[in-house]
Amino acid sequence: MKPTFADLKLNTPLLDALYDLGLTEPTPIQMEAFSPILSGRDVLGIAQTGTGKTFAYLMPILRNLKFSKQKNPRVLIIVPTRELVVQVVSEAQKLSKYTNIRIGGVYGGTNINTQKQVVAEGLDILVGTPGRIMDLSLTRVLIMSSIRQLVIDEVDEMLNLGFRAQLTTIFDSLPRRRQNLMFSATMTDEVDVVIDTFFNLPITIEVTRVGTPLDQIHQTAYPVANFFTKLNLLEHLLATDKSMQKVLIFGATKRMADRIHERLEARFPGKFSPVHSNKSQNYRLFAVHKFQTGEVRGLVTTDLLARGLDVTDVTHVINVDTPHRTRVLHSPHRPNGPGRRRRLLHHLHYPRGKTPAGGHRSPDEQTDSHAAVPGGRGSVRTPDHRGAGYHQR
Ligand code: AMP
Repeated sequence: MKPTFADLKLNTPLLDALYDLGLTEPTPIQMEAFSPILSGRDVLGIAQTGTGKTFAYLMPILRNLKFSKQKNPRVLIIVPTRELVVQVVSEAQKLSKYTNIRIGGVYGGTNINTQKQVVAEGLDILVGTPGRIMDLSLTRVLIMSSIRQLVIDEVDEMLNLGFRAQLTTIFDSLPRRRQNLMFSATMTDEVDVVIDTFFNLPITIEVTRVGTPLDQIHQTAYPVANFFTKLNLLEHLLATDKSMQKVLIFGATKRMADRIHERLEARFPGKFSPVHSNKSQNYRLFAVHKFQTGEVRGLVTTDLLARGLDVTDVTHVINVDTPHRTRVLHSPHRPNGPGRRRRLLHHLHYPRGKTPAGGHRSPDEQTDSHAAVPGGRGSVRTPDHRGAGYHQR
């Protein structure tokens, strides 16, 4: 018999919130992580976005969190990007809607004073990016001594992005007696070092994945002579293929994403939004929202900003210029069932030995600073247990 949420020791507020979300069956990571987290042990979850990992740590955390008037947060959740902060805060709010748990999110690139205010008003759970958490803690607005549970989500990505120093500073300012929960899509040597240094005999839970990307994704590669021909091909595909309704387009750099967008804007005004770290936080959140609701047909983005985003029903992913890696996800509860269009993945790549537009990159065509990850980690990710999430190079 399939497990249900009733098999977990959840309380009524959590069960009611899950019911409202239309969720009935826990995913494997949710089943397996619940008891160890509830028991207070350190847990390492090897799981990708799309496996239900966010609820896997939020459920036991919320189950144990009692009402308190204390101002300083008791749970700290660190994630690599601003978009993920917003997403995790939103998930936590949905799950805690029948409680009075206070949840807040902080991230760089926005006015720190507003965020100081959020923290100063009192929180139970604080979600944030490493740099901003460190800054708030250094200004003594954020008092870490009350943290009992630490979650580090997408730790592999955080280390790739060079957040190691910030993480170490944060760890050093936390009380020694605390529970550590860490989630990573991959196990790397760096992740191992962090675990050895800061974790206390963690239980490792790895979610089984089945299937191959090819079960889910039809992939097509177009060898293209240069960047301008790529733009022509992209425009042609979007103009002629009406099934391209919800499209994620990747450029390797912010500059390239802008150039792709300029071209699409001329042909399909208002139908595509550029999303990268040079855009303001509000603009980015708004653009992702419009994409999710179908108001715009596509996002033109760099790799990192799409990482971890939970976007449903993406029909096509187009790699205009090979990013280090890209990933598109949709919710396990909305699988690609019969009648649902399969997502298509198009790679537009240069023939061997060719480089973009004239064979060199202009100085401003640097990799997105946040996406400055070392190459070589690109991998084919298999879908999760329900064939829901996928990842491709
Ligand atoms: P995550 O792996 O945390 O990024 O989760 C991705 C998506 O899975 C989110 O949209 C969640 O709402 C959804 N989700 C979480 N738990 C379940 C579940 N038990 N059944 C179906 N969908 C879920």
